[in-house]
Amino acid sequence: MYAFTLERPTTLAAAAQLTADGAKALAGGQTLLASMKQRLASPDQLADLSGIKELSGIRREGNDFVIGAMMRHADVAANAELKAALPALAGLAAHIGDRQVRAMGTLGGSVANNDPAACYPSAVLALGATIHTTARKIAADDFFLGMFATALNEGELITAISFPIPKRAAYMKFKQPASRFALVGVFIAQFDAGVRVAVTGAANGVFRHAGLEAALSKSFTPQAAAAVKIDASELNSDIHATAAYRANLISVQTQRGVAKALG
Ligand SMILES: Cc1cc2nc3c(=O)[nH]c(=O)nc-3n(C[C@H](O)[C@H](O)[C@H](O)COP(=O)(O)OP(=O)(O)OC[C@H]3O[C@@H](n4cnc5c(N)ncnc54)[C@H](O)[C@@H]3O)c2cc1C
Repeated sequence: MYAFTLERPTTLAAAAQLTADGAKALAGGQTLLASMKQRLASPDQLADLSGIKELSGIRREGNDFVIGAMMRHADVAANAELKAALPALAGLAAHIGDRQVRAMGTLGGSVANNDPAACYPSAVLALGATIHTTARKIAADDFFLGMFATALNEGELITAISFPIPKRAAYMKFKQPASRFALVGVFIAQFDAGVRVAVTGAANGVFRHAGLEAALSKSFTPQAAAAVKIDASELNSDIHATAAYRANLISVQTQRGVAKALG
């Protein structure tokens, strides 16, 4: 690890100033510290966000849940109101990594990092969430730009994410057993306006599946999902799974997810 200095701002304004001046935001360090240890990242200064009250909290506002960027996965998994109203999101958080990762990893860190196999980006995209930052509000459809790439500008911080509550939802993750990230994860959300389906783990970034969305908007049944052909041509092949295997998993996980959402 290269030498760096650590700042511990206690207000969002102070953190925003530090990151605007070039400091790197530190959330739970689950990705950032590992990258620094491997010398893949070498920030001169870190701004630890853990002491900033404005970044915490889980609250219901009308038909949305607003979750602070520094909420740990364990906080989201344990929130009783969220578990009752949007169990798919609380359940997603409950199955991220292991106990240690859930105790430290954060919503904001996960979404800002946009790992192509991370769980949260699929929920953000399928639920049509809004990402609140120190500068603006960004719709989920405009946020994820590909592998580890987002619409965030340099120094811009996620402050919270608001998640609309759907009629029904489910997240089905087929775990890569060593890392526990998604080999394929599918988040399905049914709203009055239609169904949104977001897939993670299968390609170079999270994406919506238009064919599954159209079929499930017409008929919210596992059979409707099963009838959709999944094109493998743009999916990843690696030592863990071929593109064809991932395509099949998208179909199977979607069918299971719809069955789960239907109860
Ligand atoms: C062993 C292991 C298993 C895991 N398994 C899973 C899994 O199953 N599913 C899954 O989804 N994830 C998994 N993760 C990822 C984990 O859940 C973390 O969310 C992820 O590593 C990001 O960590 P963090 O929140 O601590 O952010 P950090 O590592 O502190 O930061 C990550 C990046 O985001 C930036 N950042 C942090 N907060 C903000 C903010 N508020 N605004 C703007 N930028 C910000 C940082 O500057 C940095 O670039 C796993 C991680 C590990 C180590």
